[in-house]
Amino acid sequence: MKKLTCHCGAIEAKVSVSEKGFEKVMRCNCSICKRKGYIIGVVGENDFKIIKGEEYLSLYQFKTKTALHYFCKICGIHTHNRPRINPKIYGINIACVEGIKPFEIKDVPVNDGENHPLDQKK
Ligand SMILES: [Zn+2]
Repeated sequence: MKKLTCHCGAIEAKVSVSEKGFEKVMRCNCSICKRKGYIIGVVGENDFKIIKGEEYLSLYQFKTKTALHYFCKICGIHTHNRPRINPKIYGINIACVEGIKPFEIKDVPVNDGENHPLDQKK
């Protein structure tokens, strides 16, 4: 279990992640993730819990409004999302998690969110 904080510290959460870090990380080239430029750590629906400052979380949604993108109202830092592909799970901004050094992670796979599977017409 590791602590997640936004930049100003108004928001705190606990993330279930091992000492070695996130098992699944990715970048994403969708319209919002490419603008944020962050590395996403994927965790399950029971692996993330806000413990402080829920009232400072702001929600951003667009297009199909399925995915939930959360950020701190005070410092603007994106903390986590609930992705469109499975809104039960969480995509964590790994740079917000204590002890994680995002610039030391090499070869992060890129999720092709620009061509999202739910946008493909059969
Ligand atoms: Zn903040």
